[in-house]
Amino acid sequence: MRNFLCGNCGRRVFFENSRCLSCQSELGFVPADLAIVTFQPVAADRSLPRVDGKGSHRRCANHTTAGGCNWMIPVERPDPFCRSCRLNHIIPDLSVIRNQQAWLKLEAAKRRLVYNLISLGLPVASKQEDPACGLAFDFLEDTPPGAPGDDHVLTGHVAGLITINLNETDDPKREAARQEMGEMYRTVLGHFRHEVGHYYWDRLVRDTPRIESFRKVFGDERMNYASALASHYAQGPPPDWQLRHVSAYAACHPWEDWAETWAHYLHIIDTLDTAAAEGLIVQEGPDQTVILPPHGRPFSEIAIQWRNVRLLLNGLNRSMGLPDPYPFFLAEAVIGKLTLIHDWVAEAAGKVMPQAAPLPTKQSA
Ligand SMILES: [Zn+2]
Ligand SMILES: [Zn+2]
Ligand SMILES: [Zn+2]
Repeated sequence: MRNFLCGNCGRRVFFENSRCLSCQSELGFVPADLAIVTFQPVAADRSLPRVDGKGSHRRCANHTTAGGCNWMIPVERPDPFCRSCRLNHIIPDLSVIRNQQAWLKLEAAKRRLVYNLISLGLPVASKQEDPACGLAFDFLEDTPPGAPGDDHVLTGHVAGLITINLNETDDPKREAARQEMGEMYRTVLGHFRHEVGHYYWDRLVRDTPRIESFRKVFGDERMNYASALASHYAQGPPPDWQLRHVSAYAACHPWEDWAETWAHYLHIIDTLDTAAAEGLIVQEGPDQTVILPPHGRPFSEIAIQWRNVRLLLNGLNRSMGLPDPYPFFLAEAVIGKLTLIHDWVAEAAGKVMPQAAPLPTKQSA
């Protein structure tokens, strides 16, 4: 993610800020600008004029809720909620205090995800705007023991609706799940990036001419999903999975391979963008400080930058006695999969997507 400066005092401010800590100016994220913008004090009608004179905005209605949203809405739009919060379908029961903290973490990760998607030029419509092809989120908690109903909420995606279990925001529970599943990495943001990969598979690949290229690179997704998953959990991944997949879970089915690789594509692009903004990119050629949007550059160039930044990132953590934030090896076959995603994201950016077919029957985890 790029750096932001206060438009009043020029000090560094951050994606999460709603006020400059140096000069106390009002700040908010304006999706159309992909930037934290500085505002004059709030007017009597609750609008905030921009200090750069380019109009006025209102704060998202979730600015004053446990969602803690710092995104802005142009005053001429009638929506009470911002572009990120409009994607919500079900939010947690906020009368339960622990759910308020859980929701705050989920919204923070979702805003970063939506920033990624907009930066890449991908369409991000809510289901209210586009009921057939839009995106929506349910943030659900497990039913308490003894209460009626299904006791466990599965994090997953079906037909544009992404469900995240609130347990994923609880650090001890998430770490216990990571160890139990034998994963090298498990984060809230990682879940968002994985599940939205399933959504964009429906939008970019399913029922399009790309399906044949997909099958050549990722495998045939018509293999039985439920039995593939059952066999993965019973027998584990093939011993040589690292030669073909970005993670062990990716080896279980082509849909999961795509979603895992998609999540890594977003990890790589966002982290490289941050590294470039901080002047940490190791130069391999002219003008390689601008990462987003990455369209028009071969992924082979990005992969070289990522190799260098990954080493730096892991090395910095080791210096602090912390685990590697990116403990993954990208084999040639995985670079090939990332290249396909990179090329299709570039093709999709700013273009009309193919219409979705009738709702699928699958639900992928
Ligand atoms: Zn300031
Ligand atoms: Zn919002
Ligand atoms: Zn999945």
